Amino acid sequence: MKRFSTIILALIVAVAPLYAQKNPDLRWLPKTPSHRAELILPQVKGYNIYKADLHIHTVYSDGDVSAKGRVTEAYYDGLDIIAITDHIEYRPYEAQMLKATQGYHEGGAPKPKNHHLTYKPASEEGILADLNVPYNEAKKPGERLGMVVIPGVEMTRHPDKIGHYNFLFIEDANTIYDPDPEQSIRNAKKQGALVMHNHPGWRRKTVDMNEFHQRLYDEKLIDGVEIVNGGSFGPKLIHRCLDRKLFMAAATDIHSTTAHSYGQRDYFRTCTFVLAKDLSLKSVREALEKRRTLAFSHNNVMGEEKLIEEFFHNSVSMKVIYTSSKGEKTVVMTNTTSIPYRLRRGGKGEGTLLDPFQSITFKVAKDKDLSFTVMNLWTADDEHPNSKRLHVCYPAKLLNKK
Ligand SMILES: [Zn+2]
Ligand SMILES: [Zn+2]
Repeated sequence: MKRFSTIILALIVAVAPLYAQKNPDLRWLPKTPSHRAELILPQVKGYNIYKADLHIHTVYSDGDVSAKGRVTEAYYDGLDIIAITDHIEYRPYEAQMLKATQGYHEGGAPKPKNHHLTYKPASEEGILADLNVPYNEAKKPGERLGMVVIPGVEMTRHPDKIGHYNFLFIEDANTIYDPDPEQSIRNAKKQGALVMHNHPGWRRKTVDMNEFHQRLYDEKLIDGVEIVNGGSFGPKLIHRCLDRKLFMAAATDIHSTTAHSYGQRDYFRTCTFVLAKDLSLKSVREALEKRRTLAFSHNNVMGEEKLIEEFFHNSVSMKVIYTSSKGEKTVVMTNTTSIPYRLRRGGKGEGTLLDPFQSITFKVAKDKDLSFTVMNLWTADDEHPNSKRLHVCYPAKLLNKK
């Protein structure tokens, strides 16, 4: 054994100078590993929670980052699933792209055509760009990082009269556009797309539906709603999703870098929690179809009551550590997740913060329940902020058992 190690050592000594001589002008500083943000979450209903951003732009429409760059950014931001959803109708960088390739064209760069169709229909030449390029660019890098990349696009029409819609799980982005927005949606549906109504309140005075929206929803052309877009949250949209059985999503709709919008690590980026059995395109789609999603933004979690309640209960553990001679209990509550919870006991105020991976203690009088409102969990709209938020109760008889 000793002889063997001597041989290895001799080999290292012999080979090392060869490497050093490769470029004697360079010194190698200690390598810093790249850190990925992680949001630690519980399982809910036996499913894993994966983090998805279903609404992302790149330089192929009006974003500042390449499609491949979006994958790297999302990976280090802690996401598992992304959809690159560039605008079909609005692609302002196309002029720059053509200019960059002008050497390839006799007589200079051609002018972009039909690259701004938000308010007017395309000429008969139609869209000349290949709209599948961003997905094709992102797919392989995503696979190499163990992520799911969903093929998608965003239909981008008049914000008030028609609105914006993401088509997810499409087959061919180039055969979707039609001057008639409803026909575009039907073209996407024909490919098996799930349709998400994006930012329903953007550049409008209300999130409520107009006649056009009503028709789409009534004809079951909508599968989900973006109840949070970046930092803008429409509490009333939770009701719409519950009433019409639609998945709830929160997405960044990121155009610049996420470091710019989410202050490096101050906030995890807005995303949708997808409750799926594994990380595959099929399981992610199944979770959206079955509406097993929660919306997450700026440490608020929104969703269907039965999912939100289990999410909270699986996030905290409770232990009675002491019972006084008068029967008063000291209860320790421990948060085993990365989500800080704002707990309010009784009527007013913001309450107590239960930080991630920390514990707090409560005193509970004899035979009293321990009940509180979790201020950053949302299960219904917010017209009466103090009465409609999730209320969690640990009954006295349960505490007595512990
Ligand atoms: Zn949009
Ligand atoms: Zn968008």
